[in-house]
Amino acid sequence: MRVFKGYNQHGKDVCPICKKNTDKSVVLVCKMGTQKGGIAEAIQVHLECLDLWYDEEHGMIYQRVGEEK
Ligand SMILES: [Zn+2]
Repeated sequence: MRVFKGYNQHGKDVCPICKKNTDKSVVLVCKMGTQKGGIAEAIQVHLECLDLWYDEEHGMIYQRVGEEK
């Protein structure tokens, strides 16, 4: 996963975890359902906001964001 040194603050997007666009290192995370021809929309997420978990039963690495629905 490529790490970018700063947040691209053009536009109004914010990190979905802390809800801010603070200029810190970020990674790009592809959005489910946007894949088309090998590319997908991606969002910026602060590296330090990530707290990933491995779900061996479902074969997923994930992090819940916000309240459980
Ligand atoms: Zn963040």
